[in-house]
Amino acid sequence: MIVFEQVTKIFDGRTVINTLDLHIAKGKITVLIGASGSGKSTTLKMVNRLIEHDSGRILFAGEETRSFKIEDLRRRMGYAIQSTGLFPHWTVAQNIATVPQLLNWDKQRIRQRVDELLTMLNLEPTEYRERYPHQLSGGQQQRIGVARAMAADPEILLMDEPFGALDPVTRSVLQDEVRRIHELSGKTILLVTHDIDEALTMADHLVLMDKGQIVQQGHPAHILAHPANDFVREFIGRSD
Ligand code: ADP
Ligand code: MG
Repeated sequence: MIVFEQVTKIFDGRTVINTLDLHIAKGKITVLIGASGSGKSTTLKMVNRLIEHDSGRILFAGEETRSFKIEDLRRRMGYAIQSTGLFPHWTVAQNIATVPQLLNWDKQRIRQRVDELLTMLNLEPTEYRERYPHQLSGGQQQRIGVARAMAADPEILLMDEPFGALDPVTRSVLQDEVRRIHELSGKTILLVTHDIDEALTMADHLVLMDKGQIVQQGHPAHILAHPANDFVREFIGRSD
């Protein structure tokens, strides 16, 4: 669904993504993992063009992302991040409906979709629809961030450390929920994390990055059984 060909990004004269080749398969969960500063978020943001690459090509559904109108591209991709970016003065329902509103869905369809997403994420619609973000726990806010990203049924869900700030129990509940949603919908997901346990739980395809390049990629079980080098061995051996 997404293909990177020899993609390079330079910030202030420093190469942070270096001739990256990457395939993100339709219907799978691809997880980018690596230490802080390895280039994970930059890679993710180049997909929806929050960051523009300097050279190489990025293809979405067979066409260069550069050839899309940026609004069209972003509407076809959901984006969820650690600091959820919920609008504080909007209710849960209004926050979730951001993209459907832009697409001019009618009221009833929006209402139905909001309730469907809340139910899917284990939040009783009548209880949560009209709340404001500050009336929610951290884990509930994260769920709303995920619901908002999924609202208009995007072709791919981009998630950057979406469960980053959560306690381990809530984190694991949300991981299960996103996996379950993925299994039900077959949604293509690109997830960024620096947490090896999260990566191993979530990934169909795991991509380990270091200094803007891919060190090893494959099925998590394969990487665990056959780490390519000492760097990978050390990384997967870490328990934090
Ligand atoms: P990660 O998400 O893996 O922690 P990032 O992709 O955020 O890493 O960053 C990769 C490198 O690029 C880091 O060294 C970071 O400081 C640098 N970087 C990221 N965004 C910018 C920017 N807007 N301007 C300058 N440097 C940046
Ligand atoms: Mg990051």
